Amino acid sequence: MSDDVLRDVIVIGGGPAGSTVARYAAEGGADVLVIDGRDPIGSPLQCGELVPTNDEMRRLCPNVPDMDDLFQTPEDAISRRSSKMHIVPPSGKPLRFNFEGFVLNRVRHDEALVDLAKESGADYLLGEQVKSVEGDTVFLKDGSSFRARIIVGAGGHNDPILRDYWEESFTKIPVKFVLMEGDFGEAVELHFGSMAPGGYAWMFPKGSGANIGLGIQRRMAKGRSLNEFSEEFISKYSGEITFQGAGSLPMSGSIQKFVKGNYLLVGDAAGMVLPSNGAGITIAMVGGRIAGQVIAEHLKDGVSLSEYEVRWENQMGKVMRNSKRSFRFGSIIFRLPDLLLNLLFNRLTRRIIWRAVTCRRMFWIF
Ligand SMILES: Cc1cc2nc3c(=O)[nH]c(=O)nc-3n(C[C@H](O)[C@H](O)[C@H](O)COP(=O)(O)OP(=O)(O)OC[C@H]3O[C@@H](n4cnc5c(N)ncnc54)[C@H](O)[C@@H]3O)c2cc1C
Repeated sequence: MSDDVLRDVIVIGGGPAGSTVARYAAEGGADVLVIDGRDPIGSPLQCGELVPTNDEMRRLCPNVPDMDDLFQTPEDAISRRSSKMHIVPPSGKPLRFNFEGFVLNRVRHDEALVDLAKESGADYLLGEQVKSVEGDTVFLKDGSSFRARIIVGAGGHNDPILRDYWEESFTKIPVKFVLMEGDFGEAVELHFGSMAPGGYAWMFPKGSGANIGLGIQRRMAKGRSLNEFSEEFISKYSGEITFQGAGSLPMSGSIQKFVKGNYLLVGDAAGMVLPSNGAGITIAMVGGRIAGQVIAEHLKDGVSLSEYEVRWENQMGKVMRNSKRSFRFGSIIFRLPDLLLNLLFNRLTRRIIWRAVTCRRMFWIF
């Protein structure tokens, strides 16, 4: 099904990043085609499904404008609202914080982003895997090809443009999770310590049941496998497992350059995950909006594509730097024995721990 028309934009991948690029580029008048290997997009589930509410996002990322236009999460994509987060050390005695979050129905959430992009005028080609990109041409695995002035890599950390034109290597955190039936209270939980070396474990209660999982840094796992860690953690909860999934998260923070010629990277492909808490959905959408708007302005008024990097730095630079710093600090602290960690999670340190998780300067001076 090749097509020799020269489109304005092709986006590889229609997840949160790609569909948001498509939405804003099309809204600005661009002719956009999104190509995704999955059909339907967003399925099968690969996620813990927690995002901050719009108000919480305003507190976490104060330089990002107009959150309510960007995040229009429909009611049927919200499984549960939570206002409490527990940070749990190995002792199991939590530090309790106020945190406004949505535990999503992630598959529905991503479908809604596709709907928004389509309403703005973007076209989708689903169930087609992109093999490679050369010049202005995108080659699919089935042998067909499509052309565009601007090509966006939003295919996650295995994106073909990232693979062939960038020389980045990410610290990747492999992750396993389950959906479990049962009643798990109201608070979302993040667990730190030897149960998830270099990463964290989570329990996010849903409207019914919970999403429970864990990610580790392999180099800190002392030869034990992700399966061993995840089985051990998940077995602490009882209930029928209705779904099992896995994936991996890029945890090095955003890369230096998002633009090369007419190629752009966004979302996981550009490392847009906050390493101190694993948040990637909303951050991919922040990057996606900037990229989409800059692309539209480039096509209409000749604005340089590198403006995407400038606006990202203005909106997210400080938050991302703080998050990277906290992650590096955590990678040292979490090598300590659990007994010491239990002592370190206390009333005096709780503000520092909360600042680290929420991407603020931990010690006010660094
Ligand atoms: C197990 C797990 C749990 C997570 N939990 C959370 C969480 O609780 N909260 C949170 O905020 N973030 C979480 N994340 C991170 C979050 O899911 C990602 O950061 C986010 O999905 C990034 O969006 P994206 O659009 O960049 O990539 P993706 O959502 O991965 O979308 C990429 C799309 O590109 C398509 N694609 C890839 N390669 C090709 C190709 N060659 N051709 C065509 N299509 C292609 C894929 O099919 C996919 O649809 C989690 C990640 C994992 C793996």
